[in-house]
Amino acid sequence: MGLSKTIWTQPSEFLRIHDGDAPVMFFAPGILQATARRFLDGFPGLVTYAVKSNPADVVIENLAAAGVRGYDVASPEEIRLIRRIAPDAALHYNNPVRSRAEIEVAVEMGVDSYSVDSHSELAKLIAMVPAAGKEITVRFKLPVKGAAYDFGAKFGATVEKAVALLGEVAAAGFIPSLTFHPGTQCTDPQAWDAYIRTAAQIAAAADVRIARLNVGGGFPSHRLNDVAPQLEAIFALIDRVTDEAFGSARPALVCEPGRGLVADAFTLATRVRGIRDGEHVFLTDGVYGALAELPLIGAIDRVEVRSPTGALRGGALLPRIVFGPTCDSVDRLPGELLLPAEMEEDDFVLFHGLGAYSVATNTRFNGFGDLSIVTTLSLRG
Ligand SMILES: *Cc1c(COP(=O)(O)O)cnc(C)c1O
Repeated sequence: MGLSKTIWTQPSEFLRIHDGDAPVMFFAPGILQATARRFLDGFPGLVTYAVKSNPADVVIENLAAAGVRGYDVASPEEIRLIRRIAPDAALHYNNPVRSRAEIEVAVEMGVDSYSVDSHSELAKLIAMVPAAGKEITVRFKLPVKGAAYDFGAKFGATVEKAVALLGEVAAAGFIPSLTFHPGTQCTDPQAWDAYIRTAAQIAAAADVRIARLNVGGGFPSHRLNDVAPQLEAIFALIDRVTDEAFGSARPALVCEPGRGLVADAFTLATRVRGIRDGEHVFLTDGVYGALAELPLIGAIDRVEVRSPTGALRGGALLPRIVFGPTCDSVDRLPGELLLPAEMEEDDFVLFHGLGAYSVATNTRFNGFGDLSIVTTLSLRG
């Protein structure tokens, strides 16, 4: 993936001179750093970044510059990435199943914290990781509403198993902690409530005073014009419920946002390849590219259309079926998109808030997906 060195004022300034079809990701470092400061100032604990949501070097560099000192990593590759760019940062290896070869790398690279959700994987950690000063967080799950999709489907111990695991972690001499992941794009602060209260019950049942509670990611980004993310309301709920649930045994808090930190710092520009018989819109990017997540978690309505000279298209908003460029019939955006009547072939369609799970999961399927990152001061205009 290319990264142009020029810094542009705004997307239209670049699009005016952009010839070619390749999709472009506009990145505004100022917005990323401002969002990072919103988390660092508002969250009542340690803010770590879930690297998988967008592992671009420029993202890690700007988060580190803004003061993010911890990173949630899931593979040796992500561990090396953080050691290269932010060598002093804390590494939280929160992929609960790891091969022995992966654990060896983690030990060698000085990972600070490991999550676990099973007896088999805890046994591997106990055998391979020297316990002194290292934390193991037991990941538990609840059936949860309010998230865009269910993260408990793959990871997380039941409450009963979590009680047993937490006892084993403490007995093995590790720093005992708990973690959960409430889902992704949780617009309702209540998503955290039951998890935090259950964490207190697990600690009490195991008779272990936990050092930290990691409340996961799941913080929302701005996907719908009318639903701005209420981060401060979520921070306040987490703070209040932790007090109520733990009282004097209150643990330190950790969060690990991906989407909520990075999504709104990027805008994707795709091009209209054709409008088939005035009906179906075909774009130069789709579900095998930077729009991979839309069928999983729903459409984005923060969309604008610009002419090849960068001018905003107007007219009535018409519902259109939108396809990506590949010949695969699943390459279609969910539902219909409201697009301005003035839109023409070769126009640019811009999707705001697309920084998470886009650059990272982009493929070159069918010869498309030649995505580049272009830096801008602003994502407006
Ligand atoms: C993916 C993931 C996150 C980040 O989730 P977001 O919804 O992007 O905030 C945080 N923690 C863990 C363990 C994850 O797997």
